[in-house]
Amino acid sequence: MFELLTEKFSNVIEKLKRAKKLDEKVVDEALKDIKIALLEADVHVDVVKEFIEDIKKKIIGQEVIKGLSAGETVIKLLYDEVINILGGEEASSIAKPEKPPAIIMLVGLQGTGKTTTAGKLAKYLKSKGYKVGVASTDVRRPAAAKQLCTLASSIDIPCFVDENEKDALKLTEKVIEDAKKQGFSYIILDTAGRLHIDEELMEELKQIKEKVKPAEVIYVADAMQGQDAINTAEEFHKAVGLTGVILTKLDGDAKGGIALSIRKVIGVPIKFIGTGEKIDALEPFYPDRIAQRILG
Ligand code: GDP
Repeated sequence: MFELLTEKFSNVIEKLKRAKKLDEKVVDEALKDIKIALLEADVHVDVVKEFIEDIKKKIIGQEVIKGLSAGETVIKLLYDEVINILGGEEASSIAKPEKPPAIIMLVGLQGTGKTTTAGKLAKYLKSKGYKVGVASTDVRRPAAAKQLCTLASSIDIPCFVDENEKDALKLTEKVIEDAKKQGFSYIILDTAGRLHIDEELMEELKQIKEKVKPAEVIYVADAMQGQDAINTAEEFHKAVGLTGVILTKLDGDAKGGIALSIRKVIGVPIKFIGTGEKIDALEPFYPDRIAQRILG
């Protein structure tokens, strides 16, 4: 995870550590190296621009921080700026179930890891002591609902199904009603995905959102898809208003740029990361810990 960035940044950091003074030449070279590293890792070009400008402003007029060398001062600024674009000091958690059941809608394209993530998130919330259920609103692909229910049963989580209901909206309403009666804290809705965005999919999601007033609408993004995943996230955000993102497949050889871009581009926090196919491979997203992983 983030190997490319870690490698590139470690070169920058080595050079900075050797620098005695924060003169223009050292700073310019470091900024150039940082910019190349970010662009090569597939960070969104606007985010790179902003990042470089912000860090430049901080370096100019910056006194060497007490107890740190010139290079270490820049490294500290770099670290702070990485945390900033990852979302700041605070980790963003899932909304509390104020009016149970709190509905968490997972949205995104097919194959991004939505169903797997529904299972992972259900297990995570259950481990926190909540009564959690899952349901698929994909009425066109019975296999999708079956996949979710098989996963749910493997972790002892109730899966709401009604194979005879072919109307996604009616199905969702019924699920929520049952969940309310049975005292569930959270219901995770694995919504239908498509290979590409289409009007019908967006319309269905809008209607479901309107009906169930979800506590969270979380976009499941495949980190391997890089910039494409960000463009798709923007479409979903425009249509249904996202409250967060879960980044999957960060264990693969994704360049990692999406993790550094999506918060700034879409304006919603990354809540969790998927780090494997197994049901436990879900981690809350802590910007400072990720910054540490990236910068060593
Ligand atoms: P959906 O179509 O969006 O519901 O996607 P699925 O949940 O069926 O996942 C598609 C594929 O991605 C499956 O093979 C999953 O095992 C895999 N997958 C999901 N999340 C992760 C992850 O975090 N890491 C890895 N390596 N694979 C994942």
